[in-house]
Amino acid sequence: KRVTTDMATLTQEIDKYARDKKLEIETLKVREEYRKEFLGNVSHELKTPLFTVQGYILTLLDGAIEDESIRDKYLDRASKGVERLIYIVKDLDMITKLEVGDLRLDIETFDIVELIASVFEMFEMKSAKKKITLTFDRVYKNPILVSADKERIQQVLSNLIVNSIKYGREKGTTEVSIENLVKNKVIIRVTDNGEGIIKANIPRLFERFYRVDKSGSRKEGGSGLGLAIVKHIVEAHDENIFIDSEYGVGSEFSFTLEKAK
Ligand code: ADP
Repeated sequence: KRVTTDMATLTQEIDKYARDKKLEIETLKVREEYRKEFLGNVSHELKTPLFTVQGYILTLLDGAIEDESIRDKYLDRASKGVERLIYIVKDLDMITKLEVGDLRLDIETFDIVELIASVFEMFEMKSAKKKITLTFDRVYKNPILVSADKERIQQVLSNLIVNSIKYGREKGTTEVSIENLVKNKVIIRVTDNGEGIIKANIPRLFERFYRVDKSGSRKEGGSGLGLAIVKHIVEAHDENIFIDSEYGVGSEFSFTLEKAK
């Protein structure tokens, strides 16, 4: 054991120990609050679709099953509700992995032009429903090779494009573009001319479960986790994400990636 003879040093050490302990307790308290809030949000998110599905099933059991057209309609709605639950659980799983740092990136070299084109194809139907035009500048005839986790970047692109459609206006546009930056980087932009975001709300967008318009977003579905996942994935790559949005005009979400050497 170390012996401290100097009284002043001893007092200092005791003070420091007390400060550290206090800090530790504060941190634990914050974590506990965070955990409680998270659980509260999760059960809230799951409740709505669960009750909806239960409602349809009970009505069917109550006799609605006899009527063929009602039966099909209710089964279809119950199935959509379950689908939504699956999406939420998948998002929760992803965010948990990302937050405990459990997600290993599988870095490979791939063509980002091709990936964007394939994500566009996935959302053709969804955008057509709202008559939204998806444009990806055909200037990019040649491959642009980047070094990143392809599956995760596909998720980033999907989440941003889904949002641009969800919060986009009827007959609007979603545009994706790529630009070279210095230092071997590219920046990918997803731009819409949709409802936009009030400046004061922008800093909170990447928080888990945060939604600007609770009722409006609910109509559109989603877990409120999309942008939190996007931010985590981009940051896990040591890259940056930016938002530029004007209320009533539109939004632009952009992120950087490293070009393959
Ligand atoms: P959600 O499941 O609600 O879409 P996200 O995390 O993806 O969750 O987005 C959080 C919130 O940010 C949305 O509820 C919406 O209010 C706002 N938002 C996201 N993308 C856009 C966009 N392109 N235009 C306008 N608002 C957006």
